[in-house]
Amino acid sequence: MYVELKNINKHFGNFKASDNVSFGIEKGKLIGLLGPSGSGKTTILRMIAGLENPDSGEIIIDGKVINNVPASKRGIGFVFQSYALFRYMTVFENIAFGLRVLKKSENEIKERVAELVKLIGLEGLENRYPSQLSGGQRQRVAFARALAPNPQLLLLDEPFAAIDAKVRQELRHWLKEMIAKLGVTSIFVTHDQDEAIEVADEIIITNKGRIDQIGKPLEVYSKPKTAFVASFF
Ligand code: ADP
Repeated sequence: MYVELKNINKHFGNFKASDNVSFGIEKGKLIGLLGPSGSGKTTILRMIAGLENPDSGEIIIDGKVINNVPASKRGIGFVFQSYALFRYMTVFENIAFGLRVLKKSENEIKERVAELVKLIGLEGLENRYPSQLSGGQRQRVAFARALAPNPQLLLLDEPFAAIDAKVRQELRHWLKEMIAKLGVTSIFVTHDQDEAIEVADEIIITNKGRIDQIGKPLEVYSKPKTAFVASFF
């Protein structure tokens, strides 16, 4: 397994956001993390990314326990729900951000940003600001920014939530293709069952801080628990 969570527990005050969470993800897979609001999905992503620490349990990537590795050293890309692009930076500078943190040379930055702008199909828009882009374009820039330092693991927190239905559909297919092409192991949080079935190789369902089911989308939904799970949506 490339990513493993072992017996992870996390409380916020008396609230148990993660209750003995364990699962494993193979390299290169696109995983949909699905469940009702408040069931602990984002908390799982944030702990993997190093933005929160578990109270107990182990987070293992590529065979190494990373609990004590700072977020900036984990080599993980994160795409947030509402883009979280830097408003006063151009497309170019947004994508370049992580590369500047890594102190890459100007030439390396130019090359890598050009490659990513091409990948996301936004050539010619490098000097625009986020306010001059559509929602779908902004989310593509957020995706490129997360990928710039070449992460081995990509975490996406409801990446399509702020985008209207039609563009959302296009973007789902685009994301699935991109991730397959890059072969980067990815976990995306969603509360949309159809989206998870359409996009993910495997689905993990959370419920009240616990892992309820794990499996291939159609296996998960053909089990008797389906009606119970579907009732949340
Ligand atoms: P989901 O992503 O499934 O909606 P979350 O992981 O965001 O669930 O959160 C589960 C619950 O944990 C939230 O409803 C909230 O009550 C609590 N929680 C999450 N993060 C914090 C935090 N930083 N401080 C306090 N409570 C939090």
